[in-house]
Amino acid sequence: MEPYDDENDSLSDMDEEDDVEDINDYHYGGYHKVEIGEVFNKKYIVKTKLGWGHFSTVWLVEFQNNGKVEQGALKVVRSAQKYTETARDEIEILKTISNNDPLKKCYCLHLIDSFQHRGLNGIHMCIVTEVGGSNLLSLIKLYHYHGIPLEITKEISRQVLVALNYLHNKCSLIHTDLKPENVLLNFVIDHNHIKRRNQVPPANNIKVMLADFGNANWIEKRFTNDIQTRQYRCPEVMLGLHWGCPADVWSHACMIFELLTGDFLFAPKQTTHYSKVEDHFAQFIELLGPIPRNMIDNSPYKRKYFTNDYGLKKIPNNQLSYWPLDMVLRDKYKFSEHDSKQISSLLLPMLDYNELTRASAAQCLTHSWFN
Ligand code: ATP
Ligand code: MG
Repeated sequence: MEPYDDENDSLSDMDEEDDVEDINDYHYGGYHKVEIGEVFNKKYIVKTKLGWGHFSTVWLVEFQNNGKVEQGALKVVRSAQKYTETARDEIEILKTISNNDPLKKCYCLHLIDSFQHRGLNGIHMCIVTEVGGSNLLSLIKLYHYHGIPLEITKEISRQVLVALNYLHNKCSLIHTDLKPENVLLNFVIDHNHIKRRNQVPPANNIKVMLADFGNANWIEKRFTNDIQTRQYRCPEVMLGLHWGCPADVWSHACMIFELLTGDFLFAPKQTTHYSKVEDHFAQFIELLGPIPRNMIDNSPYKRKYFTNDYGLKKIPNNQLSYWPLDMVLRDKYKFSEHDSKQISSLLLPMLDYNELTRASAAQCLTHSWFN
């Protein structure tokens, strides 16, 4: 595999502001035109649209199971061969996740069925999974990007750690795109509701489902090095080094911070003087201190971004302002001294530059924050 050059901004990096899929993608090899009431595989009746992505449109379906009406999320994938192949990989991954978790204790979305559907635009892979509610981004918005209450954040963070530990250790899978959009809740948030926050159940009634395994990789078989959405991307991926399960832990630390504060932990921006990648490295250094020299030495991008004495070429050290995480939490986000210390003692080991010494999901679960 080619080392991944982070300068080539990927699909996962593009802005997704559109509310609906592009109608120009309804052609041979593209999306299937799904109708409300349409029946798939003689059993799944389409009720409403749940969403769409680059690969598919997703629909709420109802079906009979042992005389009971049940619901599922039907993902109808574009019919071109590359999408069909990606869907086959996703189905294998979902099967592994579902088969190893018969009691549904692992906070991961389960597969219900998969089949092919012949339509006017070709043959489409179809994936039926459990239905989730709103995603965590919607919850972050509900709290006006000012942070979700501590007890709720804690419970959600813990459940995601259980999901990651399960994926990494039982399934040999790396999610590689952990972010708030990809974690679904067990309730739906209506942003037009009058008493909006009453829609959120108490922490002990919240259950999340880790979703979107379309980008997941097997530990032993990587599909690509072009992984993770920018803000959640770990240093080893940016440096073109080996990456594995610890990449998900890094993303989760970024996500926990975002749940707590409503802000991205790292929000790199391009300027006329330097690229997004360089700004991202600068933000790492400001929060976490210098990047280990051996990582820079091993990076295929060493000469592109770094000087001989391991500084950033385009952003000199004297332009960086250091601000450690516990102080950010206390001074900028007004957490108590105690909470700031405790939260940073959870997050800093998850943000260890070195993937080999970075905390694992299992280790994080033993942290006193979760007691
Ligand atoms: P991407 O461009 O993100 O790779 P994709 O085509 O692989 O997209 P998904 O991200 O899996 O598709 O799903 C698209 C959207 O459909 C999601 O953002 C979500 O809004 C909705 N969705 C998917 N699966 C479910 C589900 N199980 N329950 C509820 N909504 C879902
Ligand atoms: Mg998606």
